[in-house]
Amino acid sequence: MTSTLIRGRLLSFNRAPQTIDDSAAYFYESDGALLIGDGVIKTSGPYGVVKAAAPDGITEIDHRPHLIMPGFIDTHLHFPQMQVMASYAANLLEWLNTYTFPEECRFVETAHAERIAVHFFDEMIRQGTTTATAYCSVHKASADAFFAESLKRNMCMVGGKVMMDRNAPQGLLDTPDMSYDETRAVIADWHGKGRNHVAITPRFAITSTPEQMEVAKSLVSEFPDLHVQTHLSENRDEITFTCELYPEAKDYTDVYARYGLLGPKSLFGHCIHLSDREADAMSETGSVAVFCPTSNLFLGSGLFPLRALTRRQKPVRVSVASDIGGGTSYSMLKTLDEAYKILQLQGERLNPFDSFYLMTRGNAEALSLVERIGTLEPGTDADLTVLNMAATPAMALRAEVVNSLADELFLLQTMGDDRAIVETYVAGRPAKSSLGAD
Ligand SMILES: [Zn+2]
Repeated sequence: MTSTLIRGRLLSFNRAPQTIDDSAAYFYESDGALLIGDGVIKTSGPYGVVKAAAPDGITEIDHRPHLIMPGFIDTHLHFPQMQVMASYAANLLEWLNTYTFPEECRFVETAHAERIAVHFFDEMIRQGTTTATAYCSVHKASADAFFAESLKRNMCMVGGKVMMDRNAPQGLLDTPDMSYDETRAVIADWHGKGRNHVAITPRFAITSTPEQMEVAKSLVSEFPDLHVQTHLSENRDEITFTCELYPEAKDYTDVYARYGLLGPKSLFGHCIHLSDREADAMSETGSVAVFCPTSNLFLGSGLFPLRALTRRQKPVRVSVASDIGGGTSYSMLKTLDEAYKILQLQGERLNPFDSFYLMTRGNAEALSLVERIGTLEPGTDADLTVLNMAATPAMALRAEVVNSLADELFLLQTMGDDRAIVETYVAGRPAKSSLGAD
């Protein structure tokens, strides 16, 4: 067994912070260390204690004065949309039809899917993101490329072949039978291989016929442990169109409820315009509403009501995500920077501890993966990100007057990006510094 001792300041969350002063919500060690072996955190604590328990002659990596946190987690993005980012469109439906659907058609080609997969995983690592929940394209080749690259890098990833059989170009359509067979094939080929998790992925109600939604329902009952991901209530025109397509449903959320798609492993991208009845349905089933701030602003979709959803009598579980390529940054720091501003516009606060909780443990809880990722707890996978609050000249100048951990986190979130990520560890292996090395 190869062991490594990683030294630096440690920060990991025990639960969601209630206020900026809620220091019981996190574990912070100003001179800490992690003993890593077999890709897992063996011991976590003060440097002196961890060092004393470590084998003689152990390899030591000293990251002081930087901050070591669990790797960031992104709970919603689209792997085939790396070349869709920054496309000039008026709104969601125009953006999908003009840019996104034509681009996704290219993923029928294995060589293209494999090339983009390499760029995608490089970018995740560059940004300190060690787990992402991704939509592939409708083509099985895109899921194969995604999971093969993830397996090669030993990353914990969630992904799914998109199911869509209407309201898109011919090159992006499957059929109910094809979507069933190919989703089953992706599950057989990739679920549980390495650290891969397959998600059942009907794109959204607009692009699936009732027959295909029945197929999604069958898959969920056959594979109840799998994640489910789709989109819900992002844009007013989308909601109207959905309700026209499913006139028997009470509302948009009810479309998914009727096909058994709500549940504790179900992730619904956006959820900006939910009614009280819909939020109750989400809450009662433990479904997760995924907040995608940069995407919501870019597409003008609306302001995600984070506090209204989490503080209601029947709270809704939430997570945060980049939603590439509707989103405008791969960085979870930038994502939470925009989340902060969206709350400001609603007269609400998002304190920096809450932000960093959401990027790590909060998102791990939303994915039901907190036993493995999202904290620095011994026994969990050693996926880490190392942060430097003085990464640029402007940040270094601002850092001179930082005098608390809250200040440091807020500086990282507001001014930081991939340059603030000193190193990213995947299962104990330094992955950022070795990018392009093999
Ligand atoms: Zn999306």
